[in-house]
Amino acid sequence: MIDKVLQNGYCIGCGACAALRPEKFHMQLDSNGLLRAVMTSSQDLAPDDPVHQVCPFADPAMDEDVLSARFLPKAKNPHVRIGRHIACFAGKVTDPSLLQSSSSGGMGRWLLRRLLETQAIDQALVVSPCPRTPEGLLYRFEMISTPNQVMGMAKSAYHPVEMSEVLQHVMKTQGRYAISGVPCFIKALRNLMVVNPELQARIRFTLGIVCGHLKSTFYGEMIGWQLGVPPDQLGSIDFRVKIPGKQANEKGVSAIALDSETPATPPKTVRQLFGTDYGQGLFKPKACDYCDDVLAETADISIGDAWLPQYLNEGNSLIITRHPDLHSLIEEGMRQGDLQLDSITADQAADSQDAGLRHRREGLAYRLALAQDRGDWVPTKRVKPSTSGLTLQKKMIFRIRMKISRKSFPAFIEAKRDGDWNIFQRRMNSIIFLYTLFGGNFWKRLRKKIRKHLSIC
Ligand SMILES: Cc1cc2nc3c(=O)[nH]c(=O)nc-3n(C[C@H](O)[C@H](O)[C@H](O)COP(=O)(O)OP(=O)(O)OC[C@H]3O[C@@H](n4cnc5c(N)ncnc54)[C@H](O)[C@@H]3O)c2cc1C
Repeated sequence: MIDKVLQNGYCIGCGACAALRPEKFHMQLDSNGLLRAVMTSSQDLAPDDPVHQVCPFADPAMDEDVLSARFLPKAKNPHVRIGRHIACFAGKVTDPSLLQSSSSGGMGRWLLRRLLETQAIDQALVVSPCPRTPEGLLYRFEMISTPNQVMGMAKSAYHPVEMSEVLQHVMKTQGRYAISGVPCFIKALRNLMVVNPELQARIRFTLGIVCGHLKSTFYGEMIGWQLGVPPDQLGSIDFRVKIPGKQANEKGVSAIALDSETPATPPKTVRQLFGTDYGQGLFKPKACDYCDDVLAETADISIGDAWLPQYLNEGNSLIITRHPDLHSLIEEGMRQGDLQLDSITADQAADSQDAGLRHRREGLAYRLALAQDRGDWVPTKRVKPSTSGLTLQKKMIFRIRMKISRKSFPAFIEAKRDGDWNIFQRRMNSIIFLYTLFGGNFWKRLRKKIRKHLSIC
């Protein structure tokens, strides 16, 4: 099964296979700036090798529902869009420095700091910025063991990372660990915990990061280029600068060149830059379009942005508790005044991720149906292939998004090769215009105009 995943381009680059079988798999950045597992030798990979079971896109028997039933027995409340859970909250930490240094409401930092402070864990495996590697990676998984180290963690890293090295460390080293990861990474980890007793015993908590989709290294390079740092000069990038006076969804970005210590320009918001509308899906791995878990349904706790109108004025986190110990930690934090959180319903939590869920549920059903018609191999999902109930406009949006993702890679490679940003923008303009036409308010406005015209007539 894992061979099928790799051959058909569905590897998400999590590193679970390389963690379990380092002698057979290694992780490598491909020419599209995506991390991929590469099979060193395929000859002696037995059909019953457990490695087939750990890949998040390989084993149809281990879907998110099966894994969450197994690992989250105390999360008694089922919900079709957010998964099993104990409770949902929206809000933020009250510590201003923690809040300022975080992506949204600072819950990631607060939780991991609290787990280390209370010695509930010995180490946390987190994503941190790193000096640029020769291949162009700017972030990696690292181990931290003191509460102060959480301040150095990455904010949202819309950039490839993989877990093989840190997971090998956990398999070899006694201890109690927590780990943060996007939904497919946590799913892979749960699969690994099923086949590896050391991991099962040592990973005490999983912190799921709500995820729209992952990005290749090109995404950071594209932003950096528009901020005055050419791709080969990009030393670091901050995807979540909080700009005073801007709403939380107007994410600030800044880039630092290799030979510099300060950003090339003052931060800009993503709205001021080309190609950053997350819905468009530039530089998206193919696997992300075949995933139906937005809210990290197999994690002990899920955190994301509270994209609800009443929480947009400043960064606020969405929190979904699924493990009773983490739920108690959150309640204690509220009692002690560390956290300013409101209880919200599961439907509100789902609504805050409405766009992502639509793309991964009805959009996925449509993409699966298209793949089925073509006779393509696709991973088995909880969502079943279907085209029913979709308007022509929605079908067009889902098709255009796929095209944007596919087109963005060669267009950026060509622009980089010629050192000319305009090549990229020219190549992408028409398809992005088409997306705006179908995805924006164009049809609503048109319908309104027609109605108005008819009423005048
Ligand atoms: C690729 C990606 C897509 C996302 N899409 C959405 C979305 O569609 N909707 C939404 O609500 N939220 C999304 N998020 C999550 C959101 O951007 C914030 O990371 C989240 O709200 C946590 O913010 P915070 O202030 O609570 O955490 P912080 O205190 O800033 O802590 C951040 C935590 O995130 C971890 N982290 C950062 N990047 C990664 C990564 N690539 N892989 C694993 N762990 C990581 C760090 O280790 C740290 O634990 C996405 C994040 C990523 C990385």
